[in-house]
Amino acid sequence: MATTSPPRLFLTVDVEEWFASKELVRVGDDSGLRAASDIAETTSHILDSFARAGFVGTFFLLLDIARRHPELVERMTREGHEVALHGETHEHLSRVGDADFAAMLGRSRGFFQDRFGVRLQGYRAPYFSIDEPKLARLKTAGFSYDSSVFPCLPIPGWYGSWRAPLTPYRIGRRLHEIEPQGAFMEFPLSVHPALRLPGLGGYYFRNLGLGWSLRVMKGCLTRLGYAMFYLHPWELSDRLPADAGLPFYMRRRAGAWARESLDRLLAAARAVPGLKNSTVFEHCRQMSAGKA
Ligand SMILES: [Zn+2]
Repeated sequence: MATTSPPRLFLTVDVEEWFASKELVRVGDDSGLRAASDIAETTSHILDSFARAGFVGTFFLLLDIARRHPELVERMTREGHEVALHGETHEHLSRVGDADFAAMLGRSRGFFQDRFGVRLQGYRAPYFSIDEPKLARLKTAGFSYDSSVFPCLPIPGWYGSWRAPLTPYRIGRRLHEIEPQGAFMEFPLSVHPALRLPGLGGYYFRNLGLGWSLRVMKGCLTRLGYAMFYLHPWELSDRLPADAGLPFYMRRRAGAWARESLDRLLAAARAVPGLKNSTVFEHCRQMSAGKA
């Protein structure tokens, strides 16, 4: 198992609204929900928390959010964060054709370049639903890395590449394969290093408790030298509707609890001796240059 030193923490945010997850919530016309959305406030809150803790993050954005809230993208780039891609829509990739996926990547790169002067380097699939044909498209579309492989025990119907490496690797044709000479990198999500159970992300953070997340984070940092945290802005919202068909695990502890726990988790990370933090692409670039 690859070990990097010093311990490195990557903070990632999948910038989407709760009602983008149509696989999990049943909403029809979402125009009213968009109008009432508090994503600008919740995303700004995350940016404020990162700034207070002295960390930078990588923000995987849906195109729709970047179009509606250019001020957020501008703030992210101004404050040294990385802007990366979460897709044009939040469709599960099993429902997206390979050619449509390639066209979406091209449109997205063009949009971020033209509108913000941002060259997209990283991608995360909605629902971590990356598959091998889509990975191949990503490699030829000008991206430098993917961050969609969840190397946990399989969660039936969802994800789980239990044979995949737990630390960044040069990903081959198959999701768990290392291609030693490859240039394209994978930055997997973090799981408990021995048990391969998820724990360092929004859903797990709120549903399994902060203690579990802290344990996974510290285990990953000390044993692997690598931890990848992820969160969604809506998890900090105290305005998630109770009557919109949101499953309990989406609403649970959203809002004040999640805000406070995020700050506690960042403070705990801050206390890890020798901790390094950068955007994902910055580390990808250093690894490619043989400097990390
Ligand atoms: Zn997502």
